Amino acid sequence: MTQSFAGPPYDLDHLIPELAALGRRTTLLLPKSGSPGDKESSLGGPMLWPADEPWPTCGQSGHWAWPNEKNPAGTVPMVPVVQLFARDVPALSFPEGMDVLQLVWCPLIHPQDQARAALPKLYWRNENEVCAAGMLQAVPAPQEGEFEEEFMPNPCTVSPISVVEYPNWDLPQELRQTLQPCIEELEVRFGMEYALLACALQNKVGGYPAWNQPPNWPSCERGHRMEHLLSVTPEEDLDMVMGDLGGIYVFLCRQCPELPYAHRYDC
Ligand SMILES: [Zn+2]
Ligand SMILES: [Zn+2]
Repeated sequence: MTQSFAGPPYDLDHLIPELAALGRRTTLLLPKSGSPGDKESSLGGPMLWPADEPWPTCGQSGHWAWPNEKNPAGTVPMVPVVQLFARDVPALSFPEGMDVLQLVWCPLIHPQDQARAALPKLYWRNENEVCAAGMLQAVPAPQEGEFEEEFMPNPCTVSPISVVEYPNWDLPQELRQTLQPCIEELEVRFGMEYALLACALQNKVGGYPAWNQPPNWPSCERGHRMEHLLSVTPEEDLDMVMGDLGGIYVFLCRQCPELPYAHRYDC
């Protein structure tokens, strides 16, 4: 689905006052273009990676790329998905001393994982420290047969825009029923579905997960409900068509010092 949400086009707080308290700030990662550098925020671009840290790999047994289901790949390098610098996403709070967020994943199909795909890994870094200590020069990339096209984001820089959005699937059931007549009236009046009017169903940081299905919020091992960190969804402009996959959502627990994270997906 192509989505060009840039914040609600109408004053929803005013039109549906019950929604006002549920508005959340999210930073849209609108694809810009160009060839991103390793010191730029990007989707699928090169990453600022410390020379003394091996590039992450995935060796899950049986992971494969179409049409080689019977002939799985061995250990393959993961691929860059998102890199964000704190200066570009002021609304995102970084852990103490950190100013770079990186997400990589394995571009193969994983039969053991319910998501079949991705297995995202998250890293927080300090830009100056990485630059001072030296950056990894030769970043390995998966070879032919070691990746699924649909999990390879096309490199592009991003222009982050901070907007307010409202819950779609996360709108409490009862409230949804109460508001349904109002919502329908708005949809008719503006000729737009509520989800398109009020929700950012696209690549973004913070806000509500861009679920296509009923919510499935993860908790950390200590039972804290995690917060939504970012959503990565297929977008035509990005040339990243994730097949049956609706999106991949990454969550973080800030209550635990080791900052555990988890992912969910839907279709
Ligand atoms: Zn893998
Ligand atoms: Zn926790």
